[in-house]
Amino acid sequence: MNTINLSNNIDLEFIRQVTEESGENPSLCYQCGNCTAGCPYTEYFDYPVSQIMRLLQTGQKDTILDSKAIWLCATCETCTTRCPCEIDVAGIMDTLRIIARRENRVSEKDIKSFYDSFLNSMKQFGRIYEMGILISYKLKSGHFLGDAELGPKVINHGKISFLPKKIKGADKVAEIFNRFQQKERKNV
Ligand code: SF4
Ligand code: SF4
Repeated sequence: MNTINLSNNIDLEFIRQVTEESGENPSLCYQCGNCTAGCPYTEYFDYPVSQIMRLLQTGQKDTILDSKAIWLCATCETCTTRCPCEIDVAGIMDTLRIIARRENRVSEKDIKSFYDSFLNSMKQFGRIYEMGILISYKLKSGHFLGDAELGPKVINHGKISFLPKKIKGADKVAEIFNRFQQKERKNV
């Protein structure tokens, strides 16, 4: 776990951007620590989520966007549920990840590869196609043999189908993705 350094210049534009994009007000946070106390992944974070909030309040853009924490967050929303100020902390973590992606500052490349594979599957089929995600992730990450021993088990239990199944209305799901991607391009 790192000690936070608040001595860098305050990036007011970054605070404004996160506030606007998340629709949340980080200045309401009074550092009670409830979010961190409930976060199931805090032991793996370089900065616990309450420290991310403090870094955000003080506009420490570089520290936040280069952190592992924003990528290791599993969006479980425990922090949001526990916050006495009703801040959607998980939503802020999501926004920080989106900004980090946009600025091409990805500290955990494998996690981004998994997200990309997952989202591509959703866009294409309207649901996840496990085998497609698996192949795409392996190709992107280069971890060809990782967890290979699990393959036969999940296949034998019928958990993975070899062919994709499209849901009815998959084109509508694709439209949602296209709208978001157009909006993202305008934000660059
Ligand atoms: S949403 Fe992320 S930061 Fe919040 S409790 Fe879950 S893992 Fe931790
Ligand atoms: S629970 Fe809410 S108020 Fe408490 S530290 Fe986390 S974000 Fe701040």
